[in-house]
Amino acid sequence: MKTIKLGIGGMSCAGCARTVEQALASIPGVTKANVDVLARTASVAASDDVTEEALMASVRAAGYSARRLASQPHVREAEERKAAQSALLKTGGIGALLLAGWILGSVSSVPKTVSLAMVITALVLAAFPILWRAIKALFARKLDADVLVGIAVIAAASVGEFIAAGEVAFIMLLGAQLEEYTTRRARKSLGSLLSLVPATAHVRRPASVPQDACASPDKSVRAPLDDQNEMEQEIPAAEVRVGDIVVVRAGERIPVDGLVRQGTASVNQAPVTGESMPVEKSTGDEVFVGTLNESGALIIEATRVGEDTTLARIAQLVEAAQQNEAPIQRTLDRLAGWLVPVMLTLAALVFVFTHDIARAITVLIVACPCALILATPTAVMAAIARAARAGVLIKGGQFLEATARLHTIVFDKTGTLTYGEPEVADLRRFCDHSDAELVEMAAVAEKMSTHPVARAIMRKAQSLGLKTADPTSFEAHHGRGVVARRGEQRLVVGQKRWMSEQDIHLSESVDEHMDEHHGEGHTTVVVAHDGKVCGTICVADTVRASAKEAIGDLHELGIERIVMLTGDNRRVALDIAGKLGIDEVKAEVLPEQKAEQIESLKRSGRAGGVAMVGDGINDAPALAVADVGVAMGVSGTDVAHEAADIALMADDLSKIAFSVGLSRQALRVIKQGLLFALVYNVTMVTLASSGHLHMIGGAIAHQFSSVLVILNAMRLLRYR
Ligand code: ADP
Ligand code: MG
Repeated sequence: MKTIKLGIGGMSCAGCARTVEQALASIPGVTKANVDVLARTASVAASDDVTEEALMASVRAAGYSARRLASQPHVREAEERKAAQSALLKTGGIGALLLAGWILGSVSSVPKTVSLAMVITALVLAAFPILWRAIKALFARKLDADVLVGIAVIAAASVGEFIAAGEVAFIMLLGAQLEEYTTRRARKSLGSLLSLVPATAHVRRPASVPQDACASPDKSVRAPLDDQNEMEQEIPAAEVRVGDIVVVRAGERIPVDGLVRQGTASVNQAPVTGESMPVEKSTGDEVFVGTLNESGALIIEATRVGEDTTLARIAQLVEAAQQNEAPIQRTLDRLAGWLVPVMLTLAALVFVFTHDIARAITVLIVACPCALILATPTAVMAAIARAARAGVLIKGGQFLEATARLHTIVFDKTGTLTYGEPEVADLRRFCDHSDAELVEMAAVAEKMSTHPVARAIMRKAQSLGLKTADPTSFEAHHGRGVVARRGEQRLVVGQKRWMSEQDIHLSESVDEHMDEHHGEGHTTVVVAHDGKVCGTICVADTVRASAKEAIGDLHELGIERIVMLTGDNRRVALDIAGKLGIDEVKAEVLPEQKAEQIESLKRSGRAGGVAMVGDGINDAPALAVADVGVAMGVSGTDVAHEAADIALMADDLSKIAFSVGLSRQALRVIKQGLLFALVYNVTMVTLASSGHLHMIGGAIAHQFSSVLVILNAMRLLRYR
C-alpha cells in the first residue's frame, strides 16, 4: 500500500471532484481516491504496482490535467504559481482575441470574415475545456455544471450569437481562475505551515578532508569550529539526517525537530503549539521545526527530519482533515446532483413557452449551483486552517459541526485541569519506620509505574538521595494503586478505598488523617507492607493557571454542563472543582468506567453533544466515546493522537473555548453561504426566466456569487 499525491488542474466546480475521484478509483489496485477541490490535489491509496503515470493518464482521460506534486513546499508553491500564471496568460490571450474581434466587427473597413474568425477562434479556445469535460460527464451518464454551461454555449453559438457565447465561456474561465486565486491566497496566508521550514540548515559534520577544508572551493563551508574535526556547512534543510548536529542562531528558524545539546534561547513556538509567549529552551529540551529562535544560540541534535517532523505531521493532518466532509456537505452533494436535471428541464420549459433561446441559455448559465457547493468546504477549510495556526488540530469538518453544538464538556482532573506533576507535600508514619524508609518502600513499589503519583514519589526519593532497588514483581491496578514485591515483602501503595480489597485494615487515626488532606484537595495514598499500614503520602498537584478562566469562558459561551471526571477521591475532586467553578463532579471513577460515564451523559437527552477533554494517555476510551474527544499537549509526542478528534498542541485550556467559538462561527458562515447561494440562485433563475437578465450578465452574476461565498468563508481565517 502506498499513497500517491497528484496536482489536478481544470476543475471548475466542486462537482468535478467526484468525476476525478471516480476516474481514479476505477483503476485496478486503487482502494481510495480523495480529491480536494480547494487545494486542487488528489490523494490516492493504491497497491504498490499502481504507477503515478497510470493515475495521471486516467485523470487526463476524464478531461482534467494532472501533474506530480513536488514534496518540497517551496518547489510546490513555485510550481503552483507558475501554473496559475500560464493559465492567466492563456485566458488573457483569449480575452484579447475576443475583444479585438468584437471591436473590428464594428469597423466597416475590415471584412466581416476576419472579425468573425477571431471571435470564433476565441470561442473555441475558451469553450474547448468546458465542452470536453461536459462530453466526458455525459459519457459517464452524469449531468454536472459543465454540461449546463456547455449546452448554453453550444446553443448560443448555434443561433449565431458567437460573441455572447465566447464571452460566456471566457467569463467562466476567468471566474474559475479567480476562485483558484482566492483559495490559493487563503491557503498561503495561513502560512501554508510548511513554508515555515527554513530552506537551509547549518550542520556540523566531521570534516571529510580535515586539513585543507578551509581552502575547499565549496562555498558552503563556512569556517572550521573550535573542534578541529568538525566544520559547519550550510546544506538544504531536506538533506539533514537524524543525528546531525544543527546550529541555530538568534533570529533563525529551527530546521528540524530535535533535542538541545548546548546553549539557551527563547523560542517562539507559535507555529507548532499556538503559544504566543516564547518558551525558554536549554540543554535537554525538545525543539520543533519551524519555530523561531528569538535570542541566543542553540546546538541541536536532529531527532526527526522531513516528513516525520511535528510540523509536517500537523500539515498532513490538517490537509486530511480538510477533506473530511461535514455531514452537511454530503447532503449538499446529493442535492447538487438533483439540481442539474431540474434546471435543464426548467430551461427547456422556458424555451418551449417563450421561444426565446437567449433566455433559456441564460437560465442554464445562472442555474449552476457552484456557490452552494462551495459554501461548506471553503468554510471548513478556513476554520480548520485558522485553528491549526492557534495550535488546535481539528480532524475534520464533522467535528467542527459537533463542537459548535456541544452542551456538555467533561474534564479529566489529573494532567488536564492540574499540571499532573504533583509534589510530595506531606508524609505521615503509622509504624516504626523512618520517613526515609517509608519513602523508599513506596518508591520501590512505584518504580515501574508511570502514574503521576508514582513520579512524585520517585522524585521525592531522589531528592532524599535514596537508592531504590527494582521490585521483584510488580502489578499496576489502574485507577487504584500498585502491588509489588521486594524479596518476601509485599508492598501496596494506593487509594484508601481500595485497601480493603487488599485485606489491609485502616485504623481510625489513618482514616481521619487522610480525610483532612482530601478536604484540602490533596491526593493521599496509603503505603502498606505485608498487610499493615506503614504510613501515608500526600501529593499536591497544582491547578493549571489558566483553568479557572477557561471554565469561566465556557460558562459564558453558554455550555450548560461542565463536569469533572476523576478516579481520585471525592473530597479531593470537590475541593478542586469548587476552586475552578465546576458545577458537577464524578469522582472515584475507575478508568474503565470513564467511557461509560460519557455514554450516560450522552444519553441524558437534549440535542447537541458531549466533549471529553483529557491528557490523552489513560483517557483514550472516553475520548473515543465522546462526540468530541479533545487531547491536550500532544506536540512532540504523538501528534496524530488516534482517539482524539481535536488535539491541542499545547496544554492550553483556553483553546477549548476558542474551538467552540470558532466552530460556531464556522457553522454560521456555512449557513450564511448556503442561504445566500440559495436565494441568489433562485433570484437569478427567476430573473433569467422572466427575461430580465442577459446571457453575459448571467455569466458575470454567476461567477460573482461563487467568489462572494469564498470570500465570506475566508473571514474565518481572521477569527478573533
Ligand atoms: P485521574 O482520573 O485523576 O487521572 P487515576 O484514575 O489515574 O486518576 O487514579 C485514581 C486514583 O488512584 C489516584 O488518585 C490515586 O489515589 C490512585 N492511584 C492510581 N495509580 C496509582 C499509583 N501508581 N500509585 C498510587 N496510587 C495510585
Ligand atoms: Mg488522568
